[in-house]
Amino acid sequence: MISPHPELPAEVVIVGAGPAGLACALRLAQIIDTHNAAHPEAPISKDGICVLEKGREPGAHLLSGAVMDPGALRRLAPEFATDLAALDAVPVHDDAAWFLSRRRAWRLPITPPPLRNHGNYIISLQKLGAWLAQKVEAAGITIFSGVAGAELLWTESGRIAGVRTDDKGRDRDGQPKTGFEPGSDITAPVTVLAEGVRGSLTEQLRKRLRLEGKIPQTFALGIKEIWELPPGRFPAGRVYHTLGWPLGNALYGGGWIYGLPENRISLGLVTGLESSDPRLDPHALFQIFKTHPWVRQLLQDGEMIRFGAKALPNGGWPALMPLAGEGWLLLGDSAGFLNGQRLKGIHLAIESGCLAAESVFAALRDRSPARLGEYATRARQGAIRRELWPARNFHRAFEHGMALGLARAGLQWIMGGRDPFGFAPARPGYQRMRPLAEMRHPAPALTPDGRLTFDKMADVYHSGTRHEEDQPAHLLISDTQICATRCAREFGNPCRFFCPAQVYEMAEQSDGSRQIHLNPSNCVHCKTCDILDPYQIITWAPPEGGGGPDYQGC
Ligand code: SF4
Repeated sequence: MISPHPELPAEVVIVGAGPAGLACALRLAQIIDTHNAAHPEAPISKDGICVLEKGREPGAHLLSGAVMDPGALRRLAPEFATDLAALDAVPVHDDAAWFLSRRRAWRLPITPPPLRNHGNYIISLQKLGAWLAQKVEAAGITIFSGVAGAELLWTESGRIAGVRTDDKGRDRDGQPKTGFEPGSDITAPVTVLAEGVRGSLTEQLRKRLRLEGKIPQTFALGIKEIWELPPGRFPAGRVYHTLGWPLGNALYGGGWIYGLPENRISLGLVTGLESSDPRLDPHALFQIFKTHPWVRQLLQDGEMIRFGAKALPNGGWPALMPLAGEGWLLLGDSAGFLNGQRLKGIHLAIESGCLAAESVFAALRDRSPARLGEYATRARQGAIRRELWPARNFHRAFEHGMALGLARAGLQWIMGGRDPFGFAPARPGYQRMRPLAEMRHPAPALTPDGRLTFDKMADVYHSGTRHEEDQPAHLLISDTQICATRCAREFGNPCRFFCPAQVYEMAEQSDGSRQIHLNPSNCVHCKTCDILDPYQIITWAPPEGGGGPDYQGC
């Protein structure tokens, strides 16, 4: 049978134009240029290398705090230091950690060493993505924007053979509309997955090859708003981190306030996705965070101008899956490269992209896909290991709460990452949820006032999210009866709470029963539902390419 999907033969397909994927593409172009100058008799073409980006343009879906350690970017593109305005970048000149109680805030007498940021830059990750993408295209590598990787292609022998891109122009029932275009089969001996956290193709790979780390990966959700403040309120280049209220002892996470150029701040809260409470609502917690007198005072007379939400992997070194195999590589957040102790991952994403490029080049030059495996060895022995190994037990230090966790993390810092106490068996966050009937206290909640605090729909509006409405739902629930029966009974449908974009609702039917109802066009692509659904029956698949948030200026 003839496939309806046109085949596009390539050499390397990189999925994701984030810092990892773009660093891989740019470094690969640099290495090929150097090789071709030295060996004009045996040139390597860049024509067969492409990058797929599901956002409208590179950077559109990139969201992070973000304070960047510039080391890896400086090695990849040293000119960034003279182009700081293009990245909305400011050097950090002042940092502090604060502890919040319900009403008061105390500045810690010293900033914990991992949170010291002198020498780092506050940047817009969205602008970094756009900036790197320009360099990649100028270096002769094609970026297909608005094109999502829909599924992995496999050979009969079980090797990855490339990526099928998304169909364009199906209606909500899956039927082709006028102008329908089937996705293409981009066949390539090398597939690089740099999709960010909980990538959908990475999940296909993980499930098919049963890839696991030593412990299951764990995640947190970062919720962020950009505010414009009266002049002089909070200087650009100042970095504050907060601990304590409103998360309490049981919840892992903390807040941040970063000073941006033009009287703007990035304000956010990271909440661990491993609560026993099925009513965990990170969006509500973030709104409550802003009502603290210390934060409220900061935001007074300011205006919220942007919103975003994104999950992040925090399991660290022991949760890393295998990083490479036959025809594939995992980079950046898709691999789990995030230093939870330092709250940083952008530099590790760039570092992993550069390391991957060296192995991909060797595989292309020698026509030897086996050389891809060198990437895994380099990542596990080089700079990435040097950074992540001493922090290997950081996240697990908090298994008995924040107070004990801070003491234990301090001890680990002194002992080079060793933890003398041992850990309980690790479990993914969704397995820690307890039945609703066991909850003894009301869930934290507030009524948004529309000035300081906002409901989910107002925040979705400020994320710039747009999707084609008439397309198949990209949130696939394998058994909606579980939602209406077991999940309603046991957990009270936690997706209604943890989703920061009000995608999930339980709608009353004419017979009085309640059925799950989805608003997929609200989705800000944070991946929390794929991660935290207690029955693991929700699969996040990419919607038609080009849809999703637009994190301009985030
Ligand atoms: Fe996040 Fe899922 Fe809600 Fe989309 S539907 S915003 S991925 S929790």
